[in-house]
Amino acid sequence: METKIYKIDSHHIDMVKIQEAADIIRKGGLVAFPTETVYGLGADAMNPQASKKIYAAKGRPSDNPLIVHIGKWEDVSLLAKDIPQKAKKLSDKFWPGPLTIIFHKKEEVPKETTGGLESVAVRMPAHKVALELIRGSGCLIAAPSANASGRPSPTLASHVAEDLGGRIPVILDGGEVGIGIESTILDLTEDVPVILRPGYITKEMIEDVIGEVKMDAGLIASDSNIKPKAPGMKYRHYAPKGEMVLVEGEQEKVIAKINAMTKELQKERKKVGIIGTDETASRYAGDYILSIGARDDEESIARHLYRILREFDELGVEVIYSECFPAQGMGQAIMNRLLKAAGHQVLEV
Ligand code: AMP
Ligand code: MG
Repeated sequence: METKIYKIDSHHIDMVKIQEAADIIRKGGLVAFPTETVYGLGADAMNPQASKKIYAAKGRPSDNPLIVHIGKWEDVSLLAKDIPQKAKKLSDKFWPGPLTIIFHKKEEVPKETTGGLESVAVRMPAHKVALELIRGSGCLIAAPSANASGRPSPTLASHVAEDLGGRIPVILDGGEVGIGIESTILDLTEDVPVILRPGYITKEMIEDVIGEVKMDAGLIASDSNIKPKAPGMKYRHYAPKGEMVLVEGEQEKVIAKINAMTKELQKERKKVGIIGTDETASRYAGDYILSIGARDDEESIARHLYRILREFDELGVEVIYSECFPAQGMGQAIMNRLLKAAGHQVLEV
């Protein structure tokens, strides 16, 4: 299959291209499109055959449910069996935006879309191209990240083409995404709402709107018997091809340790990549040093994270050393993704 890539300018949206893509969705096909978090791979959420195509194109395990993207608040009632007050409050504050809410699902929502679960994940994305596609199609669009399963999520259309080129008919190219890490997932089916995946919208921001919220025990447990509730969080995920190790500790010690380990590996002719920051990158000695962003600008770190992991793949580095970040606010989401990319290998210095 030939994959067409259509550049879409968010300020002057080409509605002919959007309609062509919307038509594919209506007919049960796949379209990759930009959202404010990462690129998504979309299909009609209420059509089980269409949802199955998403799993096939990504190589995604069939028990890993999809997030359903909607274009207006009223659409929640097509998916959710009951709609708690808290959901309305959250949507007034954060939608359209990077917050996914889990509800008990209605009978009509296919199990193929929810990975066999009795609950459904819903979000209204803030990207204009995504909203035009959803509204133009008249469908609810199931869309996981548009990467091949296990690879870092795509933040550019070229990442999607790399992973899914030849497998899907159309990619809508809206340029680099704004946020760069996936949405926060909040489970409202529990008495006390639970964050199943940290993201741009932090625990504190949610608590300001609805009161007490818990973090899923499986996210923070060092005990590997406690599994995360979101099926997708249990897979080794977001992973670069090289082995990755995070180095934690006081900044000077981290720099010295990474430089020493790099030197050792270079003696064995290993290709080593180093993830530093704008503040520290010049302090490293190695062949492949990339800055992930500025320490005093967390948003820049989130935006560049996946792109850097993919760049190291292209360079063919065999080992990646990375600095760590304070796990507060959005830093929680950043560290969650880095830890998963590193398969939880952390060296304390
Ligand atoms: P992705 O869209 O690729 O970021 O993946 C969607 C994430 O949402 C995965 O981690 C899923 O496991 C999670 N998810 C989707 N639906 C549900 C649900 N009903 N209950 C729990 N987690 C969900
Ligand atoms: Mg994903």
